[in-house]
Amino acid sequence: MGDVLRLDNEKKLLKQYYAGQQMPSPNEGFLMLLGVRPDGVGAAVGMFECSVSSLRYEIVIPKATRGERKAVKEVRVAGNDPDCPRHGVGHRLVRAGNDLVCRRCGIPFVKA
Ligand SMILES: [Zn+2]
Repeated sequence: MGDVLRLDNEKKLLKQYYAGQQMPSPNEGFLMLLGVRPDGVGAAVGMFECSVSSLRYEIVIPKATRGERKAVKEVRVAGNDPDCPRHGVGHRLVRAGNDLVCRRCGIPFVKA
């Protein structure tokens, strides 16, 4: 396994990632998700591989914002199961340890 690279258009790629769209690679082809690793302090790192070059890239997935936390809490207070505020309807948050987490973001949004 070679060095892991960073991308200079992370924000745009993250939008595509949350929307479930294909993410273009800087060397033609597209970025395939290898996995998401929580960093233990609220953020996560997505690991991707270019479909053409097999170069590997890391994208930092930012931790939950105050607004996202508030929105998730309000859904719970109303007695419902919250979806991921980034991935949207149908991407239910799941309990992981003490947190409610999106499996695709790796982000803990509230305490379980
Ligand atoms: Zn998510």
